[in-house]
Amino acid sequence: MKISKIEHLGIAVPSIEEALPYYQQVLGFECYNIETVEDQKVRTAFLRVGETKIELLEPTSPDSTIAKFLETRGQGIHHIAYKVEDGVANALAECDEKGVRTIDKAPRGGAEGLHIAFLHPKATQGVLTELCEE
Ligand code: ZN
Repeated sequence: MKISKIEHLGIAVPSIEEALPYYQQVLGFECYNIETVEDQKVRTAFLRVGETKIELLEPTSPDSTIAKFLETRGQGIHHIAYKVEDGVANALAECDEKGVRTIDKAPRGGAEGLHIAFLHPKATQGVLTELCEE
């Protein structure tokens, strides 16, 4: 696969409202988009950092995977997202060929209208990995 950059870093937080002042007032980032991704039971806030972004993830339901992550691991980095230039579907096919376990079998819709797919942390050296394309 052809990865061009880190598209964003996903950070799990119990509350976007409580987390934002640190990112905006201390680090000086601008939050340009807040949106809810219903099927992932998550509310997201995006802040631009040069060529990449920070994605804050807040659970919208106790059975959200983010709620479970906060319970077991606590607040902090949740995933890393790479931008793939030659398609998420192709990247998933390549993972399949190379025996790399994935969470998604096909690309799905994520925040910001991106097509995304997650690789399994057991197959990615412990880091939940998201592949995305515009
Ligand atoms: Zn993400």
